[in-house]
Amino acid sequence: MSNIFIKQRLFRQTAVGCKLKNDKRDMKIELDLNIIKRNAKIREDENFRFRSYLKGQDSKKIDQIVHKLYESVLNHIDCTECANCCIELETCFQIDEIDRLTKSLNINKEEFINQSTKLDEFGDKDKLFLNSKPCQFLKDKKCTIYPLRPEECNSYPYLHKDNFTTRLIGVIENYEICPIVYNVYELLKRRMNYK
Ligand code: SF4
Ligand code: SF4
Repeated sequence: MSNIFIKQRLFRQTAVGCKLKNDKRDMKIELDLNIIKRNAKIREDENFRFRSYLKGQDSKKIDQIVHKLYESVLNHIDCTECANCCIELETCFQIDEIDRLTKSLNINKEEFINQSTKLDEFGDKDKLFLNSKPCQFLKDKKCTIYPLRPEECNSYPYLHKDNFTTRLIGVIENYEICPIVYNVYELLKRRMNYK
């Protein structure tokens, strides 16, 4: 997977931990990771066609819709019951985040960098990726360094950000990993009367 799309994860906690839940508008939320992965393969062409369709739409209007859908979907998803991004994606730290982490954990920074991290494919020295998956700080689907987690983890899956239509390749990559992205993209298709 390209490092460009390597991401972050945020742990949003809600009281809901069910497999499938419907709200008053019959908004079906799929949380089964096997079904999500399978549908990502089945719908790959459709997802790219929808990407082309979205590229022709008003970007600001799409952002408004996506932000609302994102908030709605979040109400039905408990990230601590999922943690799939922490399992499937490579964790990215900025150098100052590694400073903060190693100081707080009282571990040797150079040892941590040498033993646990790697550069990205472009050799960018401003950030480092953990060299193993799942993330070594994940335990029982919980982040053990939550207050010290990288901003990348905090921002994932980026759906609160603007300019959604400029990031659609990444959205499609994350569609098969993150139930939030999967459900928002599917609901967006319905909202746009695309399916
Ligand atoms: S640092 Fe925490 S939030 Fe980030 S990938 Fe690791 S376990 Fe997940
Ligand atoms: S993959 Fe998505 S739903 Fe699962 S823990 Fe990460 S952000 Fe939350």
